[in-house]
Amino acid sequence: METESPKAPSAVEKHFDYTIVGAGASGLWLAMAMQAEGLTAKKTIRIAERDPAKENDRTWCYWAPQSIGPEGTVSKSWNAIFNPKHHERRDPIAPYTYHHVRSADFYQAARNALKDSPNITWITDEVTNFREENGVVKVTGRSETWTTERIFVSALEAPDANQTARLDSFLGRSKNPGADRFMWQSFSGKRIKSEKPVFDPTAINMMKFDVPQEGHTRFIYVLPFSENEALVELTQFGKERLEGPSADEAIETYMQKQGSAYTVLEDEVAAIPMTARFDMLRSSLPADQKIVYIGTPAGAVKPTTGYAFKRMEAYARDLAKALKNEKPLPTMRRPWRFRLYDHLLLRILYEQPHRGKAIFERLFETQPTTRILKFLDEKTSISEEIAIFSRLPIGLFLGSLVKHLARR
Ligand SMILES: Cc1cc2nc3c(=O)[nH]c(=O)nc-3n(C[C@H](O)[C@H](O)[C@H](O)COP(=O)(O)OP(=O)(O)OC[C@H]3O[C@@H](n4cnc5c(N)ncnc54)[C@H](O)[C@@H]3O)c2cc1C
Repeated sequence: METESPKAPSAVEKHFDYTIVGAGASGLWLAMAMQAEGLTAKKTIRIAERDPAKENDRTWCYWAPQSIGPEGTVSKSWNAIFNPKHHERRDPIAPYTYHHVRSADFYQAARNALKDSPNITWITDEVTNFREENGVVKVTGRSETWTTERIFVSALEAPDANQTARLDSFLGRSKNPGADRFMWQSFSGKRIKSEKPVFDPTAINMMKFDVPQEGHTRFIYVLPFSENEALVELTQFGKERLEGPSADEAIETYMQKQGSAYTVLEDEVAAIPMTARFDMLRSSLPADQKIVYIGTPAGAVKPTTGYAFKRMEAYARDLAKALKNEKPLPTMRRPWRFRLYDHLLLRILYEQPHRGKAIFERLFETQPTTRILKFLDEKTSISEEIAIFSRLPIGLFLGSLVKHLARR
């Protein structure tokens, strides 16, 4: 987002109770939660999205006891994971199921669910600025300006210094954001159709480390949709984004091992920031908070895994309830222990990326997979966390802890 002098207001400036900037995952979850709370019947809501043709720009996976969201958005589910250390071992993950959602299906289903709410208006516009002025928020888009009682912002594009300061104050950050290590979880993959039935469609490969690490943490991720079709990706945790021929080579090698020729149906290349930069440190916001960040800038994405979809849904429900009841607004602050664990692991992956393989393999070798999923959901007890860390290379984590405490 860039800062731009506001345009001259039109004779009668439009006004909305709520504005949601960004019709991506968090914006749509919030709009649907507002509808479920009956807010869309009482409040006027504008949803501003800059992309006129949001399509299948990503897929979301999550594990949960039940699927979430509108009917028909889950395109495939699995009940087991191949163990990252013992490749032939299928670990059942009950009570969880691993779900796969195509973003195009989610966008469409959300818009369908919201279409009967006459108080919602959609605008294709890029919001370039917003600020509180005379008790309302003044919003500037490329094509229109309007005012709103509250704004919910998921957009996160090249913020200028003012916006950075505003976001820092929203998150409750006081220290220099540059101190946080920044890495990418980047993936480059192909949706593959194989000639022979070589995939087991009942279990996913979450992390298969038998690829050259090349100074990073790298693994193959496989989502098998049928015996002949799968998404096969090379994933890398590292300071740089995954580039060059290594992904194609890794996928080719993987398919050679499966023993089948194949054709490529689709490519999927993307990257998710791995950073504690957006960790929310405030536990609540005033009931009358006018500018509310949601989604990625509000700390939805877990820094060490890149998962956020389920958290955004849960947060949207809590936020809509608080709005309806005019209560202080909740935030996505995570328990301090889990923020600390993420800091320690991020530092190890940042400073000693070649150690990632051993850490993750050891994790899956020594712990029940369901406990790991519960841990990644930040729902484990302290005793479960002790059980986990006591079986990991403890020296590495203690070293990281010492540096963390010394703020180095
Ligand atoms: C490729 C990829 C794969 C991912 N896979 C998973 C996964 O499998 N599971 C999981 O849990 N999480 C996953 N994540 C993490 C997270 O769930 C997603 O990034 C999620 O889309 C974040 O939601 P959001 O609302 O913050 O951002 P987005 O979904 O990106 O939505 C932001 C929206 O704002 C719009 N916008 C931006 N700027 C402006 C502006 N100035 N004015 C108007 N509109 C604007 C954008 O066009 C976009 O539609 C993935 C992330 C990526 C990038």
